[in-house]
Amino acid sequence: MKIAIIGAGAMGSLYGGYLAKAGNEVFLLDVWQEHVDAINQQGLVIQEGEDEVKTHPQAVTSHQEIGTADVVIVFVKSIHTGNAVKHNLNLVGENTLLLTLQNGYGNAEAMAEYVDPDKIIVGTTAQGATLLGPGLIRHAGKGATHIGKFTGGRDAKVENLAEMLRQAGFETKVSEQAMEMIWAKLFINVGINALTGLLNIANGQLLHCEETLALMKLAVGEAVAVANAAGMAFDPEKVLADVKKIAEATGENRSSMLQDLTHQRKTEIDMINGAIVTQGRLYGMDTPVNETLTRLIKSKEHFQ
Ligand code: NAD
Repeated sequence: MKIAIIGAGAMGSLYGGYLAKAGNEVFLLDVWQEHVDAINQQGLVIQEGEDEVKTHPQAVTSHQEIGTADVVIVFVKSIHTGNAVKHNLNLVGENTLLLTLQNGYGNAEAMAEYVDPDKIIVGTTAQGATLLGPGLIRHAGKGATHIGKFTGGRDAKVENLAEMLRQAGFETKVSEQAMEMIWAKLFINVGINALTGLLNIANGQLLHCEETLALMKLAVGEAVAVANAAGMAFDPEKVLADVKKIAEATGENRSSMLQDLTHQRKTEIDMINGAIVTQGRLYGMDTPVNETLTRLIKSKEHFQ
């Protein structure tokens, strides 16, 4: 398969590296010249514990060096999704599929402004990766990838895509309820990311303070109410228990939002707690806790 990955940071490089190793023709497309040069000159190095895996995807800074791809995987931060697709439409041909495994709500919707929604496959990933420097990433955690058609249902195209990911070593499941998985992942980010970012704490510490837990419960409760207004049927108690379980299982981790704030990068808040606010408004619902968390993170982005 000819695969183009837009956004070759930690996750784009992880998926791109292993897809290339499995024999696919992979192009990593990124705006970061130093990273692109390092990959082309020395290969992409993936740290796996004490070991290093070297892979050789091609890295480019322009879609013109790629042409039409069979699969386009979008792995920019979710605040850049719309622009990344809009400026690289030449990658998309009649039979091209576009896959998003990014965090947040609204990635597929942003892509659908520029491409046929039927071409879009959405999903979530429990893989973790960290970018250490040009041409070098660390595979930080392993877990399942879930994918499904944005427009619902199941067909040979999504099954083939799942098989392509499995052959590259990514445990992958196909779901017919794609949007349900997106919401379920969003609840986890809603409950963990902004609070850990604001308090500068690891995920597990969220569980050690009654006040913090109360805020988590309120933020997740609002998110579940909005999802259910949008046609889902989540049980708020079960969702909260799942969020706490993930916070405990990833207790030592520093969330991506905390890492973005630490490195003075713009966060994905608009697509996480901010998405609960904007989606809530569509149904005439107030979401004061998510609105406050969103405004606090944006204030922090502003002053640092
Ligand atoms: P990252 O910041 O490491 O990588 C993003 C890359 O996109 C950067 O290299 C950047 O230069 C590039 N980029 C930005 N704009 C671009 C453009 N217009 N065209 C081409 N390249 C562009 O981010 P990441 O950690 O890989 O995360 C990507 C997505 O995956 C996010 O939505 C994140 O929440 C999600 N995610 C990350 C992890 C993780 O462990 N890192 C796990 C699960 C999900």
